[in-house]
Amino acid sequence: MSPPKNVFEIFQLLEKSNCGNCGEKTCLAFAGAVFKGQRRLSECVRLDPGVAARFSENSGTENAPEAEGAAHFDQLRKEIAQTDLALAAERVGARFSGDRLTLKVLGKDFSVDRHGGFHADMHVNHWVAIPFLTHVLYGRGRPPAGRWVPFRELKGGREGYPLFRKRCEEPLKRVADTYTMLFDDMVHLFGGRQVERQFKSDISVVLHPLPIVPIMVCYWLPDEGMQSSLNLFFDETANENLDIGAVFALGSGLAQMFTKLAQRHG
Ligand code: SF4
Repeated sequence: MSPPKNVFEIFQLLEKSNCGNCGEKTCLAFAGAVFKGQRRLSECVRLDPGVAARFSENSGTENAPEAEGAAHFDQLRKEIAQTDLALAAERVGARFSGDRLTLKVLGKDFSVDRHGGFHADMHVNHWVAIPFLTHVLYGRGRPPAGRWVPFRELKGGREGYPLFRKRCEEPLKRVADTYTMLFDDMVHLFGGRQVERQFKSDISVVLHPLPIVPIMVCYWLPDEGMQSSLNLFFDETANENLDIGAVFALGSGLAQMFTKLAQRHG
């Protein structure tokens, strides 16, 4: 597939249903954002992943973030090969056995060996693997303090990732609005825990994409003319156990995963 020459070439690849699940009002707006390099084609949840991958291989606009992510991933794996995993396990509170370091990711075992190979009970996506490796290499092992803060209050959150709401919270809110099993799935499929309602929300669930990097999802139902709302909160120690880019990757990865799950089962 040759690189797109204009917005309409990208638009032709899309479903044109204007479903809104990507966070844009129309498929045409999404195509424009992809052409400008503001969005990735793979963020259209209705698109065949094969089409997005072929586009990614050849597109000047799409290639940059994908290639950057792949290069970052390769670099982290090389660093793992030079790291004492037993010491790293001690630092971040992981299990170490044989040549593997293992942590629970969303309630499932996720391991890396000394060659940077993965062994997991779940699909190894970049959005999980990069934060996992970053945590193993650089996490300080600070236990959660129990004080929840929004993403914008984490160091580098507001300035570095202004699209957090659009990429993470808005797609998850759309899932929560329409897919009634969302919070049940979080608890029963992904090791989440329903906790006492926080910030006057109607439901609060804590997920553990990494054992000491919890994410709390708070959802407010529509009420007296007010629309529903959904916010993600992080423990204030998140910055010490992950860089802000990896925290963002977890938030957007979770949003994409639950969007796809809702479409399959909703
Ligand atoms: S998710 Fe895909 S099909 Fe839906 S509006 Fe966005 S671009 Fe169009």
